[in-house]
Amino acid sequence: MAGEPPLPDVAIVGLGPAGRALAHRCLLRGLDVLVVDNSPDRVWAPTYAAWEDELPEWLDRSSVASRVPYPAVRAGRPRTLGRTYCVFDTRTLQSILNISKAHIVAGRAVLLATDAVVLENGTVLHARYVVDARGTETRGAARQTAYGVFLDRASAAPALEGRTSWFMDWQGDNGADSSEQPSFLYAVPTGPDRVLLEETCLVGSPPLSVRVLRERLLHRLEARGITVPDGAEIEVVNFVVEPSARHGKSLAFGARGGLIHPGTGYSVAASLALADRMSAALADGTVSGSTVWPLPARAVAALRMAGLRVLLDLDTSNAGDFFEAFFTSPPGQQRAYLSSRADTRRTLAAMWSVFRRSPTRLRYTIVRAVFRRHRP
Ligand SMILES: Cc1cc2nc3c(=O)[nH]c(=O)nc-3n(C[C@H](O)[C@H](O)[C@H](O)COP(=O)(O)OP(=O)(O)OC[C@H]3O[C@@H](n4cnc5c(N)ncnc54)[C@H](O)[C@@H]3O)c2cc1C
Repeated sequence: MAGEPPLPDVAIVGLGPAGRALAHRCLLRGLDVLVVDNSPDRVWAPTYAAWEDELPEWLDRSSVASRVPYPAVRAGRPRTLGRTYCVFDTRTLQSILNISKAHIVAGRAVLLATDAVVLENGTVLHARYVVDARGTETRGAARQTAYGVFLDRASAAPALEGRTSWFMDWQGDNGADSSEQPSFLYAVPTGPDRVLLEETCLVGSPPLSVRVLRERLLHRLEARGITVPDGAEIEVVNFVVEPSARHGKSLAFGARGGLIHPGTGYSVAASLALADRMSAALADGTVSGSTVWPLPARAVAALRMAGLRVLLDLDTSNAGDFFEAFFTSPPGQQRAYLSSRADTRRTLAAMWSVFRRSPTRLRYTIVRAVFRRHRP
């Protein structure tokens, strides 16, 4: 007698880097995996990057298009950071997170329950667990925006001033007035002869528009002797950096699950690094909201939100001082603030260090922002 087909172990909704990494690691553990996405064959376009020391060992390094040891920063005088930065070859990253053994469903999920997903066309899909990896919601106050152009190395060289990259360049040659929202130049090699030069509004509520960022980038590049050729390939960035749900309240993963750092906008490395822990907990039936949100991670998340409030209050006149204070802090504290999800002590130490190193006027801005209630 034919019975009901067995329930998939897990349905993962969303096939961005987070959902795909989780599906990939679940399949390697032998789980029966169902994945749902509006557009499962979409080829990822963004230029994703991460710190090398954040990447899990299992990740095939062929996914890295370029490694940047000692990336440069400039807020006061130029300096280098003692970490290696990696820019992914996005297509390779997508393809090595192989999900060919999953059941793939194309469709828009309109309702997610703990063990079922309802699609727009009325189909109901059941699974033992449902994980929401649909990326950040489109609403949300604080966003990151950027406008970038890709140039060959020789054309980009004057912007780099002899360096291989700018992780952050706050040099004031982008035409912004001191009272305006700040933006910086992010410049990284994305291949042997390709450099991305991107004017970035780290966070804003509302953020700088892509139009303003384009004007600032062209102004900055022109000041450095670069005219962007017509038809140059561009990248536009615009996404919400704030977590959309309370941490650990549902089985959500990736940007949807609050893994996005609200002070940097990064989530890809955190999602890759946590995919194994999440897949192990799904396999042995112990998964819960705490799997990726143990208490120290929730404490760090609250500290990062205080950091976000400070960033939102910076203007062009004091952003350089703020980042100079950050980049002259002890490297272990910088690393903890940027990358450690559960190191409350060092995250606090990094914040205290920035405060101590800040000029008095900036200290007022920091105190006011930290003790202000966040307006979503
Ligand atoms: C241009 C750009 C550059 C970035 N660069 C970096 C970087 O260098 N490093 C970094 O860490 N982060 C970066 N980010 C930010 C962030 O990490 C990315 O947005 C990342 O893609 C988040 O991954 P995710 O898998 O959580 O969500 P997403 O990549 O947003 O994936 C969500 C998936 O869910 C699908 N989906 C959404 N709603 C539904 C639905 N209702 N039903 C079915 N499917 C649905 C979408 O089609 C999509 O495939 C960048 C973002 C942008 C836009």
